[in-house]
Amino acid sequence: MISVQQALHIIDSTMISQHIKKVKISKSLGFILAEDISAPINMPSFRQSAMDGYAIIWSDKTDYKVTEESKAGDAKQITLHPLEAVRIFTGAKVPDDADTVIMQEHVTKKENTISITKMPKQGANVRPIGEQVNAGEVVLKKGTRLNEAAIGFLAGLGITKIAVYKTPKVSVLVTGNELQQHGKPLKEGAIYESNSVMLEMALHRFGIKKIKTFKAKDTLKATKKTIKKALDYGDILLISGGISVGDYDFVKEALDINNVDELFYKINQKPGKPLWFGKKDQQFVFALPGNPASALTCFYVYVLPILKKYSGFSDYHLPRIEANINSAFKNTSGKTLFLKAYCKDGDVSILPSQQSSMLNTFATSNVLVTIPEAIENLESQDKVTCISLDGYGN
Ligand code: AMP
Ligand code: MG
Repeated sequence: MISVQQALHIIDSTMISQHIKKVKISKSLGFILAEDISAPINMPSFRQSAMDGYAIIWSDKTDYKVTEESKAGDAKQITLHPLEAVRIFTGAKVPDDADTVIMQEHVTKKENTISITKMPKQGANVRPIGEQVNAGEVVLKKGTRLNEAAIGFLAGLGITKIAVYKTPKVSVLVTGNELQQHGKPLKEGAIYESNSVMLEMALHRFGIKKIKTFKAKDTLKATKKTIKKALDYGDILLISGGISVGDYDFVKEALDINNVDELFYKINQKPGKPLWFGKKDQQFVFALPGNPASALTCFYVYVLPILKKYSGFSDYHLPRIEANINSAFKNTSGKTLFLKAYCKDGDVSILPSQQSSMLNTFATSNVLVTIPEAIENLESQDKVTCISLDGYGN
């Protein structure tokens, strides 16, 4: 059995080769950019008015004659002389001769003449060419996570396709004779199968869409055969259940037969002690304990970083935050605990139903409080580390 720190160290030092694909920018939300992006054009590419108003050649005079109009999208060349003004609108081309735009709120107009009531500095309200970015300049670096702002920015530069890191294809394999599909009343001794949809939803939230679900009964033959099929599909395989030490737990043996090499098995933690992690060539396998809260905790702490690394993230763990625990807590287990909890304004409450079979309070948790194995007593208001469950969604 290894400690949580040792397990996380193995996750951190696992090398994963990433794959790149070209996508339309509208399909790139949440992906990591796999190339530096250079601006193909200046932005703005012409001198633009930042205001609705009047373009002039700046002087200390207040009265100007309005001679022409320039609205957004107009391309015509306008000649302007001293003491002349061009009626202009936001986003329109500023005539080459003009150097200043007067806001229309600072002007009184009489027929074809304007009188400026508040003269700005020379150059005001004109966006110079390349004010935001210059053509050729690197404007987004490889490794940037693409959010809506980045995608809008790329669209403004006229860029339509970009290279991003691929997200992995994931196989989810659930094991257990007791598992029943939905739609019929529960049979005696059965439970509704819930881990596959839970893991699928977690994968969706973190941007993974290519998922295939497999099921196996608790026999060595079925487990071995289904693992093989699941490995044929996915870059990463998540198995639920069958990894403990019971007489009907065949996952470990079946992984061995399928030549998946163990990287670790069993962590001194609660929940999720029997977690198994291994590798076959470039494929990674997690065998998660079947208890739903164990499976989900192991997903957040160990699986997600591997998925994120594969997808090009350099910051691949869920964010850790510090908070004050609002009641005393004892840890007599000698294990590292991940506790379902709710954190608000720096104050964190440990929720009831901490058992690994229970999801009722996981459903309203927004953090997992981590209590290291060596800590036995926490007083109310002591600082604890919380794993934020809100981060990283798409
Ligand atoms: P196991 O890890 O196979 O020993 O399963 C531990 C507990 O988790 C048992 O009570 C199982 O019935 C339950 N369990 C296993 N797989 C699932 C699943 N896919 N959905 C819901 N509960 C499960
Ligand atoms: Mg089982």
